[in-house]
Amino acid sequence: MSSRNLRRALRVTGGFSAALLACTAVGFGVVDQAAPLEGSHPSAVAVLFFASVVAVLISALTRRMHFEAPSARAQRVSRWMRLAPTFADLEVAFALSAATYALLSVTGGLNSDLYPLLYAVVAFSATFQTRLAAGLTVAAVIALELSLLWRTGSTGVTPAVYHLVFMTGAVAVHALFLRGLIAVNRRDHDMRVHTEVEKQQESARDYRLISVALGAESRAPRSRRKEEQILQAGSVATISSSIYHSLSLLHQALEARSCVLLWRGTSDSELKIKEVVSNCDAITEEPIVALSGVLKAVARDGKPLIMQNCKPGQISYYEGAFDAGAFMGIPVIQGKHLRGILCLDREKSFSEKERELAERGAQQVLVAIRSEQVFNTVEKAKYEHERFYNASALLCRALTMEQVQDTAFDAAAAIVDYDIAILTLHDADQGKHRVTSVRAKDGSSIVIDAAKLQGLEFRDNAGLASMVVKNKHYLPTGGAPRDTNTPVFTNKLRFQCESLLVLPLLSADEAIGTLTLASHRRGQFRKDVREMLGVISNQVAVSLQNALMYKRMETMATTDGLTGLTNHRSFQERFADLVERSQRHGHQAAMLLCDVDHFKNVNDTYGHPVGDEVLRRVAGVLQEATRKIDIPARYGGEEFAVVLEATDLEGALGLAERIREDVGAMVLDSDKGTFSIKMSIGVASFPADGAEPAELIEHADMSLYHAKENGRNQVVCYRDFLAARKARKAS
Ligand code: GH3
Ligand code: MG
Ligand code: MG
Repeated sequence: MSSRNLRRALRVTGGFSAALLACTAVGFGVVDQAAPLEGSHPSAVAVLFFASVVAVLISALTRRMHFEAPSARAQRVSRWMRLAPTFADLEVAFALSAATYALLSVTGGLNSDLYPLLYAVVAFSATFQTRLAAGLTVAAVIALELSLLWRTGSTGVTPAVYHLVFMTGAVAVHALFLRGLIAVNRRDHDMRVHTEVEKQQESARDYRLISVALGAESRAPRSRRKEEQILQAGSVATISSSIYHSLSLLHQALEARSCVLLWRGTSDSELKIKEVVSNCDAITEEPIVALSGVLKAVARDGKPLIMQNCKPGQISYYEGAFDAGAFMGIPVIQGKHLRGILCLDREKSFSEKERELAERGAQQVLVAIRSEQVFNTVEKAKYEHERFYNASALLCRALTMEQVQDTAFDAAAAIVDYDIAILTLHDADQGKHRVTSVRAKDGSSIVIDAAKLQGLEFRDNAGLASMVVKNKHYLPTGGAPRDTNTPVFTNKLRFQCESLLVLPLLSADEAIGTLTLASHRRGQFRKDVREMLGVISNQVAVSLQNALMYKRMETMATTDGLTGLTNHRSFQERFADLVERSQRHGHQAAMLLCDVDHFKNVNDTYGHPVGDEVLRRVAGVLQEATRKIDIPARYGGEEFAVVLEATDLEGALGLAERIREDVGAMVLDSDKGTFSIKMSIGVASFPADGAEPAELIEHADMSLYHAKENGRNQVVCYRDFLAARKARKAS
């Protein structure tokens, strides 16, 4: 036996030998003398043995718990490695038996109450261990039982027979029923696992088929990382099976002893064993092989090498000083780089013809890898484009500014993993930039106060954002800040990041703002990513302009052109909503109907344009006097309506009075000198004066009419109007 095999044998059988020794010691009655029940004091040697048996048991159990079956490759090359699991089982079973008998010996021998423990050990072995291990365990237990019988004399025959019968019973019951049950369960489980694994592999393989056949819409949304993992798993499986196939063919065709593919990892001085087809068990178990001997020569020259008579130890994928005979090494070169070495060895020498065949084999390996690389690149690109397409589609659908900004961040996230994204808009007339939207990833290491950033305004300056708008080109050039302190918006605000990209939002050759992305990871914004983000940001620009246009159109449809107040149609809608809301919340509300007194005279005296200006000034007063939740509106002509939310009659009257006074206090200019106007206001309150908008308007109008009749320049509420009418009727 070679020293290597001896080492392996010792490693595999060491624990088992200790357990066997413990069994033998117990069998020879060494621990019997430790029994305090015998009346005498246990000898120190006996106590030591008892402790040793317990130690062997603990060690066996610990080793078994942490036992890792040798890899398939190690098992393929070494008989000892194949036997390792059986020896691991035996070690536990023998240690258990020894410990149990030791315990039985010190607690009464054949008459011990702890005998059922033995049945449990036997049953455990019969149930969970390999057939060989279980058989040997039972044999060991019987031997120990007989030794116990022999040591205690013939008086114990009857209990010993009972024990043997019980033991056999325990073994039989477990072997028959439990083993059967476990086998059925295991088979079911294996089948389930097998189907699951097959399904997964198929999904990895089919994946490209599905995506090719059905296109973007059908693909389940997966994370970028998951997508890459699936792709890689499929590719690795394809490459391995293809390489194994090539190696097997070569191994067979050239009648080689071993056909080994060594692959270069990150280190130049080492090669990994990627695949082996061999009928020799001397191949090293180490996955990494140092570049030495003939392998070093092949790697250095990058040319095929045939050595008809290698010295022992020259081929480092064999253990020790293995005498391999002839060796042939074919470098596997991709582009100009040595990727690996295809190695063959056998006793008889290699011919030139055989070298050509091996070279073709090496080519085959490269083709398999290359085609998977291409496939992977295409598939990745397809994934990117799909994301890209989805992002574009989303952007097209976004209508409001908020939607566009949100979608812009989503679209960028679909392309690159960023920590923070910021949108700014540029006001070319004022030379000002404004941060309109910020999105920061949770737990990002780039510390930035998003709330502080939101709404930040800055003038055209030397910061990146400003320069990008000016030059209409993204910055920094390589997608990374030249130093981590580069000012992006203002000098005060800097964020330290490894990757940074400020893109212009270009629309019709105008930069309307910027999209800034930052990441703490290096090299996030590669060229292809930058290009895609460039297209996305231009699309964002167009979408933003569409949203602005949409907003403008909406404003036009809802506001009055002359005064900028809510127009009649929009007022009716908002008023109805407000009344409904007040009803729901049980709030009061009020409506003022305001009419400029003798406005016709203003037009007639000062001209229509002055009349218009007067209307604008009145609108200004209304806007000044009201809160954000109130609705000042141009009701028509020189009539204005104001709806006050959550306001009682007293509050409404107070406000109406203030409006009347403010309007009256206005000094108006004209060619014919300054003048002033007056205003009459009718007030109706909800719910006292009406539950419906129409009713409230009617009652406010009646009050206004009353004010006009009563001398103008006054505020009249519906309650006062009713009282006045009543008084008039009475008189
Ligand atoms: P009263 O005190 O009774 O309200 O008298 P009035 O003159 O204000 O009443 P009337 O309703 O008779 O006149 C309203 C005038 O407002 C008539 C119209 O020419 C003028 N007007 C309506 N819309 C506009 C507008 O947009 N611009 C200008 N300049 N005048 C307008
Ligand atoms: Mg009028
Ligand atoms: Mg009027």
